[in-house]
Amino acid sequence: MGKVGVAVAAAGAAAAACVVAAAVVGRRVRRRRKWGRVLGLLREVDEGCETSVGRLKQVVDAMAVEMHAGLASEGGSKLRMLLTFVDNLPSGSEEGTYYALHLGGTYFRMLRVKLGGQRSSILVLDVKRQLIPQHLMTGTTEDLFDFVASSLKEFIEREENGSAFTLDRRRELGFTFSYPVRQTSVSSGILIKWTKGFAIEDMVGKEVVECLQQALTRKGLSVRVSALVNDTVGTLALGHYHDADTVAAVIIGTGTNACYVERMDAIIKCQGILTSSGGMVVNMEWGNFWSSHLPRTSYDIDLDADSPNPNEQGFEKMISGMYLGDIVRRVLLKMSQESDILGPVSPRLLTPFILRTPLVATMHEDDSPDLAEVAKILRDILEIPDVPLKVRKLVVNVCDVVTRRAARLAAAGIVGILKKIGRDGSGGIMSGRSRGDVKMRRTAVAIEGGLYTNYSMFREYLNEAMVEILGEDVAKHVIFNVMEDGSGIGASLLAASHASNDPDAVQML
Ligand code: ADP
Ligand code: MG
Repeated sequence: MGKVGVAVAAAGAAAAACVVAAAVVGRRVRRRRKWGRVLGLLREVDEGCETSVGRLKQVVDAMAVEMHAGLASEGGSKLRMLLTFVDNLPSGSEEGTYYALHLGGTYFRMLRVKLGGQRSSILVLDVKRQLIPQHLMTGTTEDLFDFVASSLKEFIEREENGSAFTLDRRRELGFTFSYPVRQTSVSSGILIKWTKGFAIEDMVGKEVVECLQQALTRKGLSVRVSALVNDTVGTLALGHYHDADTVAAVIIGTGTNACYVERMDAIIKCQGILTSSGGMVVNMEWGNFWSSHLPRTSYDIDLDADSPNPNEQGFEKMISGMYLGDIVRRVLLKMSQESDILGPVSPRLLTPFILRTPLVATMHEDDSPDLAEVAKILRDILEIPDVPLKVRKLVVNVCDVVTRRAARLAAAGIVGILKKIGRDGSGGIMSGRSRGDVKMRRTAVAIEGGLYTNYSMFREYLNEAMVEILGEDVAKHVIFNVMEDGSGIGASLLAASHASNDPDAVQML
């Protein structure tokens, strides 16, 4: 090869090297651009979930206003504000052995509770949890309640065995039924609609307690259903039993709901009903709350559109355990589709509800230096292997944004209730008084539900937002009491207070 030839060869090699270098740089630039795009998506979802204290206060006001509207007329608000006819809460003086039956979403639970006649002396003698067979959730009313009655009979027979079990001995039972019911008294009500997977069409519009009572009679069991209660009301009852300053109860589990004690004269839609205490517990069905001030993202809109109940339970879809995991999944899917940071799009990411909320909590609270739990869940659940650390951090960020919004909105909802009843330190929604004028009373809120009790970051964010909205001076008077199993035990307490017409039952307001 001559000189020219060598020069040409050298030039060729240099050109090849340039092409390789350009390709590397190109890939790097593309990767950086995609990373930038992903960060852009994170920024977008973060901004979309914005819950500044100013916005939370707007949600507080909207909640209080909607509560007014729901109390003013039937259908006046997305908040149903259902009457419960519970006008006296347990005082602590209840005595005797009572039963409770809780028909929930997946399980029904039976309890036998001994009340000692003194505050805080509750002895849960027996508990039995039973899975509701799938076919009964979509069968007939009679089949469902026959099954419930047989199980209850078995439970009572076994538990009372040896202590003179007799079929004709009269027993009192509190029935917790966590579906929207239009109550006609403390022990009767009509099912408005099913939720949580139940679809027994012939039962909608029927008297719930009658259905149960008839099945109990068919089984020859002498049990009187003396209270029909929503699970929030059961929680409030137990909360009030332990702490007489309890004014509201909130459930944050698979779903979310709240109830509180309202003055009868504020319940405009039911004028004419008189209660001995002058108040009544109102079941808000707050999962259905909606306001234009709620920070809504495209992920929420899609989740709602894909749900079996679009335009319903809007507040619940941003807050409760049933949905948080799926919001996170939707964000991760979008990030995966817009970049290759999670490799080729995993079919698992396309599967609705595959990422359950407890997994979000595990990733969010992973404190290992290399985020090993995050890597494990991405690999095992979503089938996304080998995710680099910086991408794992991004996933944690997404969990944080979604959970923080949920917890802060729940706090705003609680303050909304406090504002409605004048316990937010401002003197109530109708008052123009300033905070300084009002002496804040100790105010307790009973809380139950797996999301709140098991997810500490959720709890921390909720508490933090309470202080931000109310200010330290007021927030310190608001106490959250966790009521484990409140809905079941509370129902037995209400059965007791409504069986005996306890003369010592305290006035609520
Ligand atoms: P339910 O609401 O069905 O009566 P729970 O109050 O026990 O039952 O709440 C269960 C819900 O709580 C689950 O659906 C889940 O979303 C949430 N949850 C349970 N454990 C955890 C956890 N460790 N972290 C976050 N959420 C959890
Ligand atoms: Mg529950």
